Amino acid sequence: MAETKSNMDVSEEQTAGNAADQIGQLRETIREHQYRYYILDAPAVSDLEFDALFQKLLELEAEHPELRSADSPTVRVGGDVSERFERTRHPAPMLSLQNAFSMEDLYAWRERVKRFLPEERRGELTYVVEPKFDGLTVVLHYEQGQFILGATRGDGEYGENITPNLRTVRRLPLRIPVMSETKLTAPERLVLRGEAYVDKADFEAYNRRQAAEEGRTFANPRNFAAGSLRQLDSGISAGRPVKLWVYQALILEGVGPFPATHSGNLEYLNELGLPVYPDYRCFADEAFDALADYVADFGERRHELPFEVDGVVVKVDSLELQTILGFTGKDPRWALAYKFAGEEAVTKLTDIVVNVGRTGAITPNAVLEPVQIGGVTVKSATLHNEDYIRDLDIRINDTVLVKRAGDVIPKVLRPLLEMRTGEERAWLMPAVCPACGEPLVRSEGEAATYCVNNACPAQLVREVEHFVSRGAMDVEGFGIKQAELFVEQGFIKDLADIYYLPWESIQAMEGYGEKKVANLMSAVEESKSRPVDRLLTGLGIRFVGDVVAETLMEQYASLDELMAASVDELSQIEGIGPKIAQSVADFFALEPNCALIEKFKAAGVQTASERTGQAEDKGPQLFAGMTFVLTGTLPNMTREEATAYIEARGGKVTGSVSGKTSYVVAGESPGSKLDKALRLGVTVLNEAELLGFGEKTE
Ligand SMILES: [Zn+2]
Repeated sequence: MAETKSNMDVSEEQTAGNAADQIGQLRETIREHQYRYYILDAPAVSDLEFDALFQKLLELEAEHPELRSADSPTVRVGGDVSERFERTRHPAPMLSLQNAFSMEDLYAWRERVKRFLPEERRGELTYVVEPKFDGLTVVLHYEQGQFILGATRGDGEYGENITPNLRTVRRLPLRIPVMSETKLTAPERLVLRGEAYVDKADFEAYNRRQAAEEGRTFANPRNFAAGSLRQLDSGISAGRPVKLWVYQALILEGVGPFPATHSGNLEYLNELGLPVYPDYRCFADEAFDALADYVADFGERRHELPFEVDGVVVKVDSLELQTILGFTGKDPRWALAYKFAGEEAVTKLTDIVVNVGRTGAITPNAVLEPVQIGGVTVKSATLHNEDYIRDLDIRINDTVLVKRAGDVIPKVLRPLLEMRTGEERAWLMPAVCPACGEPLVRSEGEAATYCVNNACPAQLVREVEHFVSRGAMDVEGFGIKQAELFVEQGFIKDLADIYYLPWESIQAMEGYGEKKVANLMSAVEESKSRPVDRLLTGLGIRFVGDVVAETLMEQYASLDELMAASVDELSQIEGIGPKIAQSVADFFALEPNCALIEKFKAAGVQTASERTGQAEDKGPQLFAGMTFVLTGTLPNMTREEATAYIEARGGKVTGSVSGKTSYVVAGESPGSKLDKALRLGVTVLNEAELLGFGEKTE
């Protein structure tokens, strides 16, 4: 391009030129995604990816104000109104809510609310907490009790008239009050805000059928709900399992008096026969800590709900106080959306390193720029194997989508191809083991690559790490660091060497003071008396985890007896398949493995069952086979403590009451679970009765 200019000018111009290209491309991509999302209801990327792209565009436009343009997607945010539907103006703008992502945000919001209220009114503050349903927001109009109009939220000011489709939603009453025996008369005018949604199970069932029949599926229940209601043919909507909750009266006119609180309104709407989610909670301002606990607890239990929830909404209950509080910009001051931490995040993959596992399997791992997911900082994630990386075309320096669900190891879902800058480079599986330098092997037809060197120190380190782990011999203070050190020093050449460690030499090493060594020594000593199934687990035999180990050691009084068992005999045991049986027999067929057991015995490690010891370890199994549901606040135990108490005695704790529930344990201010228990005739216990349960039955 500008050949005659100085170097400096050229590079500046190039940067600007690149930025213009990148901005242009981003705009195009975002427009396309918006169209797919809002109009076609068939998004090609996740919300997170979309947000990342959008954020990138905002940043670039901020850096290059000269490239701003009125037709950029950043100028008009989301919510296009499809021309396929008649536009309808909402009676008042559909507001958005302030978001909170942490408890600090929640408490800060409360302080702001109080600050904006006259001091003498602060005593009246109570709050309502409701789930934040993840569906399609709808605005419903009733006149003289007749459902006359229903619209999408659209851009907040205008929505799409989808009345015929909404009429197909069975939960939506076409006339209120629904029950003729109620004494209520319909208000002259009622405009409601609600959420149309699809249950997770219905969504999955539909997608499974759909995948089989047409190959086109929906990304998530929300898109499914939206897509179902934005059909031109309401016959299609009618065939979809769309449900509805209403959660706010926007306009309520007629002969009053009408409730003065939001919760009163919810109750009133419920009495009219409208679908109101029953488990909303009210908290006084003095009980704000309890509110915060409830919010946190709700976040943990939200997956148990049949529908998707991405947070809770906290509102000031008094409508008069709401009016006093008013708005800040577009957001009401009296409401807050508390968003639960997502399970996915976008970050940069800076490197790929390989790990040698206990079995010699080589696992590539992504080194990530640290990112918060669900309150945990994630710095690495698994990439499974070579094929996974190749099939998804994951490269070093890629921006990637990472998922972490529960306690599962985080994994890289995919690279965001639109975020590539040209600095990405492909990765190749190393040819030799990073721990021992021997060539790596990948057998034909197998996805995994292995280091097959039996003497590979990395494998021994992993074996030791597994052996001392909590699920196996549970040696406190003994972790990967100790495993690495002792293997490297040559102290450990096989697993039994853990019981023959040269403590004097260890104490001479840096970082191993007298106290630390004494603790480690006694932890090693203590582990000798673990139940024998723990030792069996610790051996790391293929397919033999803690459950299988327990099953096996229930059949055999000692490892000697187990070692003598044939494959046939082993496969007769319930829960032991031929693969496990073969694996166990193979392990003990090897002479060094038998010698290892003898070495354990010589060290004084328990290799036979001690029934009494085991029973003591578990406690009496009072609640075996029983299912419990907890509700409300117990006087002395937290929910976690009560759960642990029940589980330690063989019981199960679930989230919802059903015919299969054995007992409901109820504390103060119980929720709808108690009502349901009473309806179903499930016995209700208080905390004292739960704790006294053994005495009662014995
Ligand atoms: Zn190796």
